[in-house]
Amino acid sequence: MLIVMRHGATEPEIQRVIAVIRDMGYEARVMPGAQRSAVGIVGNDGRVDAARLEGLPGVQEVIQVTKPYKQVSREWKPESTVVHLPGGVAIGGTDVVVIAGPCSVENERQILEAARLVKEAGAAILRGGAWKPRSSPYAFQGLGKPGLKLLAKAREETGVLICTEAMDAEGVAWIAEAADIIQIGARNMQNFSLLKAAGRAKKPVLLKRGMSATIEELLLSAEYLLAEGNHDVILCERGVRSFDTTTRNLLDLTAIPVVHKLSHLPIIADPSHGTGLRDKVIPMARAAVAAGADGIMVEVHPNPDGALSDGAQSLFPEQFTQLMHEARAIAEVIGRRVAEPAMIGG
Ligand code: PEP
Ligand code: MN
Repeated sequence: MLIVMRHGATEPEIQRVIAVIRDMGYEARVMPGAQRSAVGIVGNDGRVDAARLEGLPGVQEVIQVTKPYKQVSREWKPESTVVHLPGGVAIGGTDVVVIAGPCSVENERQILEAARLVKEAGAAILRGGAWKPRSSPYAFQGLGKPGLKLLAKAREETGVLICTEAMDAEGVAWIAEAADIIQIGARNMQNFSLLKAAGRAKKPVLLKRGMSATIEELLLSAEYLLAEGNHDVILCERGVRSFDTTTRNLLDLTAIPVVHKLSHLPIIADPSHGTGLRDKVIPMARAAVAAGADGIMVEVHPNPDGALSDGAQSLFPEQFTQLMHEARAIAEVIGRRVAEPAMIGG
C-alpha cells in the first residue's frame, strides 16, 4: 500500500502518517518525489485499514499495490530509476551502457589488455569474474581475491568501471570495496541470503535472471535487495533454458519492455550467455539495444581461442569495436546514446 501525500504536504503531516502506520504494526518507507512525497507500507498482509490513513491531513490518496513485489513496481514508483555510477555513468536514463570484458579474470596481462581494448572501443564498464560459478567443479573456478585485485588495478590504470560477480556474502563485502557493480549471477538469483547481503551493501547490484525464472520471480528477487535498503539495482536478461538446444539459452528480449512496464528498475541484456555462440551475439546485442535495453553486457576477450571460460561466445576485439559502432547508430534512431567511458582518471 502506498500513501501519496498532497503537493506541499508538511513534514509534520508526513510524520503523522508514519506514526499511524507504525501504530498499526507496520513499517513505513518515505519516498520523496519531485512533485509530491509518498509513504509506502511494507510487510503488510492485506488487512491494512486504508480509511484510517485516507482521512489524515496532507494525504491525497491511498493506492493498493496489486503485485506481489512492492518497492520494485511502477505502481510504487512511477519514475524510472537511474543508477548513478562514478565518473558520470548512469544506467536507466537516456544512455545505453555497455559492460564488456572476458568471462573470467585469468591473469594480469589478459585483464589489463581487455580493459584497454574495451575502453578504447568506448565501453564504460569492464566485466570479468574473479569468482566463477561453474557447472563442473573441475572447470576453472576463477582466481578469487587476487583476481579482484587485478580488476582494481585495471580500473586504476585505465579508468574503466568494474562489474564482477559475488557468489557469497564474504565476496559481497570484498567486491563492494573494489568494484563499482556487484553482479549476482543467474545461478544465484534465488540465493536469498546472498541477496540480503547484497541488499545491505553500499554498491549497485546487477541481478541476472535465473535460467528458469519467471519475470515475476526476477522482480521478487530484486525486491529482496530493495527491502534491505539497496535501491541501486539493475536487472539483466541473460536467456532462459528452452527445449531447443541450438543456442545455449533462449534470450528473452520481450523481458525488456515487460520489465519496463512492471518496474521502474533499469534492465540490460546479455546476449553472450543468452546465445552462447559468438556469431549470434552481435545480432542479438543489436536487437537488445533496439528493444530498449538500458545497456548490454558482452563477453569480449583479447584472445578468445585461449580463454579459460566461455571462449566460444567471446567476441574478438575487432568484432566488439564494430558492435560499438552499430550500437551507437541504433541507439540514436530510438533517441538514446551509448554512454561514454567514465571520467575517473586512468
Ligand atoms: C557471467 O556473467 O559470467 C555468468 C556466469 O553469467 P550467468 O550468471 O548469466 O550465467
Ligand atoms: Mn561467461
